[in-house]
Amino acid sequence: MQKHVFIILLLSVTTLFSQQVLSEEIYNSMEEKVITWRREIHKNPELSNREFQTAEKISAHLKSLGIEVQTGVAHTGVVGIIKGSKPGKVVALRADIDALPVTERNDLEFKSQVTSEFLGKKVGVMHACGHDTHTAILMGVAEIMSKNKNKIRGTVKFIFQPAEEGPPPGEEGGALLMVKEGVLKNPDVDVIFGLHINSATPVGVIRYKSGGAMAAAQRFVINVSGKQTHGSQPWSGVDPIYISAKIIDGLQSIVSREVTLTKEAVVISVGKIQAGVRSNIIPESAEMIGTIRTLDYDMQKKVNLRMTEMVRDIAKAYNGEATIVIENSTDITYNDPALVAEMIPTLERIAGKENVLTQNAITGAEDFSYFQREVPGFFFFLGGMTPGNTEAFPHHTPDFKIDDSGLLLGVKALTELTMDYLNNN
Ligand SMILES: [Zn+2]
Ligand SMILES: [Zn+2]
Repeated sequence: MQKHVFIILLLSVTTLFSQQVLSEEIYNSMEEKVITWRREIHKNPELSNREFQTAEKISAHLKSLGIEVQTGVAHTGVVGIIKGSKPGKVVALRADIDALPVTERNDLEFKSQVTSEFLGKKVGVMHACGHDTHTAILMGVAEIMSKNKNKIRGTVKFIFQPAEEGPPPGEEGGALLMVKEGVLKNPDVDVIFGLHINSATPVGVIRYKSGGAMAAAQRFVINVSGKQTHGSQPWSGVDPIYISAKIIDGLQSIVSREVTLTKEAVVISVGKIQAGVRSNIIPESAEMIGTIRTLDYDMQKKVNLRMTEMVRDIAKAYNGEATIVIENSTDITYNDPALVAEMIPTLERIAGKENVLTQNAITGAEDFSYFQREVPGFFFFLGGMTPGNTEAFPHHTPDFKIDDSGLLLGVKALTELTMDYLNNN
């Protein structure tokens, strides 16, 4: 008898944690709407910090649901707040809303025909990173939650973020500006969740990495000064081009000889080098610009220090002088290991254990990292590749395509993660 009671108790505890918080019907009834929004947004893409119509569409939707809305956050951002029927923690959900200066090349009926101006040039505009899907998914999550407030213990903040791809030169924007404007305060956010659609991951699959998931990006500028002379008499001058070659070589030795590559990856790339005017003049100076990618802040610190020393000392060794300036572009998209461990069972429950896969770190950067610098966060990847396909066009290209049958899983994932977190903390 006692044994039976124990088994029944055990079963009910297991079902408690393995059951979906909201019913399948609630989710299924949202699918068509989310796909329609996604296609409308796809057809009307807007560049970073210029997401006026997109923001209008989002705020109109949130207001129609009776959600408290703040507009004009970090220029065109929209923030909505839903307070549940019971007090509890605060979860933020983030979707980025901007598109890219890319001319769409496909035969979709909702293909973008939009053009705009970018850096003084006429460009096509396209949701070539899939932020249209993120926006539509989060609009769906907001609708579901606003209709199920009685099941929410705590508060949910919906962050529709502009300019993830980077604001135009000379402007502020994106997650950094949202944080600066206090988006994670009042009420103070405890944790944040976000997702990115992926064109090369099959529909139904979720991929994630605990810890450093996407790299910090830093931009560097190196200025080398030498002494100008005739190309036939190098001994009368100091050659900044020769010194630049030695510096490039030295920088790669930091990656290959000095960092613990088995811990995390490091990339240093010189992307541009400029010096000189003609074949028989050794010029006065050279300039190099490049990017650094790291997945661990201690390693980043070491790489930055060694680059600074090496640039200075290599130039000195060849009788020249050189300086380096390193600027932070994006932080590390760092998935809090404890939060990830806590939330993986939720993702496995809704997607199936076999469809929740780990992945390697990505050396690309994502400005969700600025939120994660302030509060623990979890950012994962959602499949957007048509089942059966084995190849996909990369993000940021004219042929980029997302199969929107994968969006419902995104709605479920963000909703159930939020509900589970709020119920268990
Ligand atoms: Zn992108
Ligand atoms: Zn993106």
